[in-house]
Amino acid sequence: MVEPLRALIFDVDGTLAETEEVHRLAFNRAFEEAGIPWSWDRTLYRALLAVSGGKERIRAYAADHDPGRTGIDALVRDVHARKTEIYTGMVREGGVPFRPGVARLIEEARAAGLILAVATTTTRANVDALLDANTGGTGHGWFATFACADDAPPKKPDPMVYRVVLERIGLPASACIALEDSPNGVAAATGAGIAVVVSTSVYTDGDDFTGAAAVFPDFGSVTLDDLRSIHTKA
Ligand SMILES: [Mg+2]
Repeated sequence: MVEPLRALIFDVDGTLAETEEVHRLAFNRAFEEAGIPWSWDRTLYRALLAVSGGKERIRAYAADHDPGRTGIDALVRDVHARKTEIYTGMVREGGVPFRPGVARLIEEARAAGLILAVATTTTRANVDALLDANTGGTGHGWFATFACADDAPPKKPDPMVYRVVLERIGLPASACIALEDSPNGVAAATGAGIAVVVSTSVYTDGDDFTGAAAVFPDFGSVTLDDLRSIHTKA
């Protein structure tokens, strides 16, 4: 690829931090508070992660496991809103650190003048809570743009969220690398023409990452020079 690397685009859940277990616990607490007899264990949640987006995940579960339930639109809206409150509260308590290498890679990229962006199916409130807890609030300014759940209604594996980022940062796909942890993320980024580097997470370890330019257990030993080299060959 002739275009030099000019931007890193980060997924959030599973990539910046191992957030999925906190999401799962927050979903279960929101169900319990609403008097809904659903409880998602780890095995079930791993399967449910095939559906990107919290609202979409609740709706998909209801359709499969509780198809007779009425008032599903209001349930999805209310339970998801409460789940977001519970989740952000848990994250703000500081229990979800950045994954290995993430803070250093961001620092290296900023020092080199690269553009940083976020492309996620999670809500902006969830991203803000994670950045507040891990960067003391300064992290918001590191990113040129945040494309979140409301910015791209068709969720990953649909490439829309990545196309939104490219449009906002004004760069071609060939100038960027996406950092992801899931097959849906790989499909979304490659669908937008962006090379993807994967760090497998607790819920995606062992998944099929065909299409990724490189796969690592985490970014602990991955440098910006490594990403430049991967990008050149992609
Ligand atoms: Mg992810």
